[in-house]
Amino acid sequence: MRLYNTLSRTVEEFTTRDEGRVGMYVCGPTVQNVPHFGHARAAVVPDVLRRWLTHSGYEIFYVRNITDVEDKIIERAAQEQRVPAAVAETYTRIYEEQMARLGVLPPDVAPRATGHIIEMIGLIERLVEVGAAYEAGGDVFFSVRKFDTYGRLSGRNVDDLRAGARIEPTERKRDPLDFVLWKAAKPGEPSWASPWGRGRPGWHIECSAMAAKYLGTAFDIHAGGLDLIFPHHENEIAQSEAASGRRFARYWLHNGMVTLDEEKMSKSVGNVIGLGEALDRFGANVLRLFLLSAHYRSPVDFSEARLAEARAGFDRWAALLRATHGLPLPAAEPAVAAAARARFTEAMDDDLATPAAQAALFDLAREGNRALEQGDKEAAAGISATLRELTGLLGYTFDGGSHADDLVGPLVEELLRLRLEARERRDFATADAIRGRLGEIGVIVEDSPSGARWHLGGA
Ligand SMILES: [Zn+2]
Repeated sequence: MRLYNTLSRTVEEFTTRDEGRVGMYVCGPTVQNVPHFGHARAAVVPDVLRRWLTHSGYEIFYVRNITDVEDKIIERAAQEQRVPAAVAETYTRIYEEQMARLGVLPPDVAPRATGHIIEMIGLIERLVEVGAAYEAGGDVFFSVRKFDTYGRLSGRNVDDLRAGARIEPTERKRDPLDFVLWKAAKPGEPSWASPWGRGRPGWHIECSAMAAKYLGTAFDIHAGGLDLIFPHHENEIAQSEAASGRRFARYWLHNGMVTLDEEKMSKSVGNVIGLGEALDRFGANVLRLFLLSAHYRSPVDFSEARLAEARAGFDRWAALLRATHGLPLPAAEPAVAAAARARFTEAMDDDLATPAAQAALFDLAREGNRALEQGDKEAAAGISATLRELTGLLGYTFDGGSHADDLVGPLVEELLRLRLEARERRDFATADAIRGRLGEIGVIVEDSPSGARWHLGGA
């Protein structure tokens, strides 16, 4: 298999440190709010990689952390007038529930930062010991000039970075590029005892410490969103490698952003689609198909039209599987199915080219329908069996199962189509009754110039 490595900026042949085993670390969420659709992509991309590596015969150990102590959580707690730990608990639970609804396999370990303060302190002590970090007034900073290859991952030049940086009057660091490993406690904030007095870890050191604890100081794959390359991943490498003297992760994989009207979806911009709302409206399969219809490194633009296409695509697969349900299977896989399997495999092995892999599956579904039209039930059933297996490898599910709520979206859309028809023939009583009944069962319908929109109430 070949994977694009951000570190080398090339597509490389994938090899593992230990034969047949893959250690993989993915930066998880900072649990300060409900997940938005960008979080779905950052979870689905490594989920598909993990499923594909498992299918390819590797034994994966998959770690995805929870950042449960961070400035934004503390700010949120102040707004909600709750303690930061309670805020983190609420949003951790919501994140995990929504990941399960999305059909993302749970990690082998989901370490929480607050459960690993001892490891973080140990790592910072080590960095101080080797001269890569220094204490200043209860804060501890990483000394960027002590790490020769700083900037390699992000392709940034340290001199250029330094020219654009400055030290705020309140900061105690020696060099504008130095970043914080340990923050001295401020009144009212969560803090832990350390050799430098009470304080809390910086964000970057959290991932270095948790990755080392569960995967060792050198492992295979580190993944995350493109927006984490600098400074987060650059700093993770500097801390980890300065402490261990070993190469940290061998492959760095970064997924592209989700945009809304061509702008990055982010809390600070305010253009976010909630993941819960998206799951209510479209269901896990349609969201997954939408996400995988773009290459993982490309941006993907959230639009109603693209999601409608994804729904139509998923319905084509589901319709063939329904139509062939219970039909006798042929003795051997039909040739068209074997050919689709080969195309699918080739695409997935080529840096996880899911658009091409899915194109092979759409072509295969077409062949299945053709076989049905020609009355060749065995061939149709054989094609269908291959389709079910390959879509399953990408994480799609049919027949309810864990994605029972996939039915909600299509059913509501169908009722809204009936409502629209009623309105078009000026039967407003029926149209209003449909809306009223939906409201009674918790489906809130809002009319807008571009048509009716809906969401599940109370969420
Ligand atoms: Zn991280």
